[in-house]
Amino acid sequence: MAEEKKSEYDKLFLKKKSAYEIFNEKEIKEAFSISEDYKTFLDNNKSEREIVKYTENLAKKNGFISIEKATKKSNKIYAINHEKNIILVDLEKGKIEDGLRIIGSHIDSVRLDLKLNPIYESEPFAMINLRYYGGIKKYQWLNEPLALHGVIFDKNGNKKEITIGENIDEPVFVISDLLPHLEGKEYASKTALDIIQGEQLDAIGANMPINDKLLKEKIKGNFLKILNDKYKISEEDFVSADLSLYPAVKARDVGIDCSMIGAAAHDDRVCAYSAVKSIIDGTKKNGLVILTSNEEVGSRGNIGADSKFLENTISKIIELKEEKISALELLEKSIAISGDVTSGLDPKYADKMDPYNLNKLSYGIAIEKNIASPTSTASAEYMQFIRQMLDKKNIPWQYGELGKVDQAGGGTIAYLLARYNMDIVDAGPPVIAMHSPFEIISKVDLYATYKAYKEFMDN
Ligand code: MN
Ligand code: MN
Repeated sequence: MAEEKKSEYDKLFLKKKSAYEIFNEKEIKEAFSISEDYKTFLDNNKSEREIVKYTENLAKKNGFISIEKATKKSNKIYAINHEKNIILVDLEKGKIEDGLRIIGSHIDSVRLDLKLNPIYESEPFAMINLRYYGGIKKYQWLNEPLALHGVIFDKNGNKKEITIGENIDEPVFVISDLLPHLEGKEYASKTALDIIQGEQLDAIGANMPINDKLLKEKIKGNFLKILNDKYKISEEDFVSADLSLYPAVKARDVGIDCSMIGAAAHDDRVCAYSAVKSIIDGTKKNGLVILTSNEEVGSRGNIGADSKFLENTISKIIELKEEKISALELLEKSIAISGDVTSGLDPKYADKMDPYNLNKLSYGIAIEKNIASPTSTASAEYMQFIRQMLDKKNIPWQYGELGKVDQAGGGTIAYLLARYNMDIVDAGPPVIAMHSPFEIISKVDLYATYKAYKEFMDN
């Protein structure tokens, strides 16, 4: 066959290749097979507590020991913080003073939190009073089946774990939108920001009154009775609870080719899943994975990446293993990936992105040198290290920016790990419709992300 004639300068140009051009048939099959496991993970683990428990179980099965039980000889250790963060450390390979390969991701996701006084009666319903968590487009959460997840303590300190709405035979909750028939001109011309206000984002909780003539608020009474029958709790117990509504829709394949996955909160469960899998599957270097929370609201607090959990855990491990190095020295010698998702090109909204610096679904893991804000910029030196690492193993990757200068915004935990003076770069798959109840990623990007994290742990 005749070769297509190319300019001698053609080789000077960047060639962006899709993962389908880079992966062989076996790898594409593997991408689809991992995606099945990932979808199950998504359906079964929504809250931070659930993801931490899943990770702990997986770690235990693979020989990790809790830091409370670990001894000087333990090399695979995990530590849990307030049931909402977890660290996995694998020191099986190499000397500790060589530093660690660290991957950090966040396991909180946009959702609707119940307020402290969540249940009120408003004819003809009992309503659930909510506060949205993270940066959502509020109208997207209307008419969406929602499931309740969380824990609640009764006044004697008994902990009840609650999940309602995940099984098909369980009820869901919903924030209803106005029907078009009633809109009128004024309402119909509202902007996306005005369609519904934060305080109006309350879900329908019940509609059936309790049969009790003495009670004034009969529908709320019925709501409370059902909760009491099931969990032995009363209204005051909501003060000591973490309860949230999450989209109840199951993860589904998207596209006639089943090449994509639609689900809530790929951000950032896709990176958390890939990071955990990369360390569980065994590392050739000393590895550490940290799953943090509060990222969607600024990473502050004792469960955010801003807390001292990482530093304290490393101090404890060093002490346990009677090593000479300090935690701060070890962190400074480490290198890191901030595993987080970025925006993918949606052709309908192409004008919102810089056409020369954007990421696309199915083009592999996206390496982001710059994250808009708060700023953490990977050095040229570190970019070349990552670049060589990925190219050597033929792992599909791409690079771009979240959006346009002066218009786009979004942060990750990179800047908080960067405080320890370690090299760090953001890396994760691109997502379509991020922060909506049905985000979309590509299966080959998930696989490329896992492969990249795995290689980072080995290289
Ligand atoms: Mn994120
Ligand atoms: Mn996010």
